[in-house]
Amino acid sequence: MLNASVWRHALGVDRATVIESVDFDEEAQSVVIHVRPRRHTKRRCGICGCRAPGYDQGQGRRNWRAMDLGVLVCHLQSDAPRVQCPTHGPTVAQVPWARHGAGHTRHFDDQVAWLVTHTSKSAVAELMRVSWRSVGAIISRVVADARAAKDPFEGLRRIGIDEISYRRGHKYLTVVVDHDSGRLVWAAVGRDKATLETFFDLLGEERSALISLVSADAAEWIATVVEQRCVNATLCADAFHMVAWATKALDEVRKEIWRLARQIGAPNLIAHLKGCRYALLKNPEHLTGNQQRGLARVASVNKTLYRAYLLKEQFRLVFQLRGREAVRALDAWCSWARRCRIPAFVELYHRIVRHRASIVATLTNDGLSNALVESTNTKLRLLTRMAYGFKSTDNLIALCLLDRGGYCPPLPGRSRSSASALATLG
Ligand SMILES: [Zn+2]
Repeated sequence: MLNASVWRHALGVDRATVIESVDFDEEAQSVVIHVRPRRHTKRRCGICGCRAPGYDQGQGRRNWRAMDLGVLVCHLQSDAPRVQCPTHGPTVAQVPWARHGAGHTRHFDDQVAWLVTHTSKSAVAELMRVSWRSVGAIISRVVADARAAKDPFEGLRRIGIDEISYRRGHKYLTVVVDHDSGRLVWAAVGRDKATLETFFDLLGEERSALISLVSADAAEWIATVVEQRCVNATLCADAFHMVAWATKALDEVRKEIWRLARQIGAPNLIAHLKGCRYALLKNPEHLTGNQQRGLARVASVNKTLYRAYLLKEQFRLVFQLRGREAVRALDAWCSWARRCRIPAFVELYHRIVRHRASIVATLTNDGLSNALVESTNTKLRLLTRMAYGFKSTDNLIALCLLDRGGYCPPLPGRSRSSASALATLG
């Protein structure tokens, strides 16, 4: 007995889909539901949705994997004729239950996309009975669909530009975040002028002129492009990257002292320096009791290293202040670093002076979230690892946008406002 209305509800399709019959394939333990698009939704191009005359029967009947029915795998089966689109030529006609070119239904795609942002890689593949490679293609479709439905660059005023390494640091993505919404708005392979130019080409001249602030890591190629393309923007140096410079300088000092201690054979110093790396590089509020004692030993056995530590910490504190107070603290730090006679920090001092204007812009612009740049950076690194096994970097970029761009769809059959979708961007 066929109750089409119950089946439509169970499958989550609307009246545009006609349920013809339901079969059970005992051998495959699979339910096959024969469907067709209702007459008025037929004969539209699968890519653009334009009405178009019929072309041929395409590859005949085909299957779309739908969400499981209880413990059973389920497929929708239908003809897949082609239409003659004036723009796209012969194209498989649109169907109401699936995205163009998909082998899965919309709901199946959406559930996979939701799971990817909420659980582990292996859980997604196991639960949904799909390969990780297919997951990459699925989320690319979901994100492309969502971005086509709404202008991803709407209302951009204050942006952050950053670079993320992937494939063990051999390749890079350039990414753009919106400081006001907290979303990742764009990403592309490469880290050079040409890559960033493609973002501003997409944004267009008019909208680029509306950008009032750009934060970045002080890389030359970013500064050059921003200057040319965002005529009204102030360039700010990301506090996150500045502090990373100071941490790196401190680590250089530590390595140099360690090297010297080994060279001259100073067992006492070596014993005290051993294992102090984390104590030196971590923020003091996160130190364990043991690490605090390690730091105290550094203070007593090597004054230079301890001074380098204090220089790093004071530099970090500059970015916790705001406005004039912060600028005064920056200048005080500069005059100390200039005279400190620790080569790594004298070098850092010169670098900071070169970028003083953009650092001051950061310190005096309210509401620039350092935490956003830092958390996006950390999360994207994790996502690049999760993307191992995807077919292309387009899938990797889709994963980044899905998770950090607010494109995660609600679970099928439940509605959720985009506001709460954003709230999950923790
Ligand atoms: Zn078309």
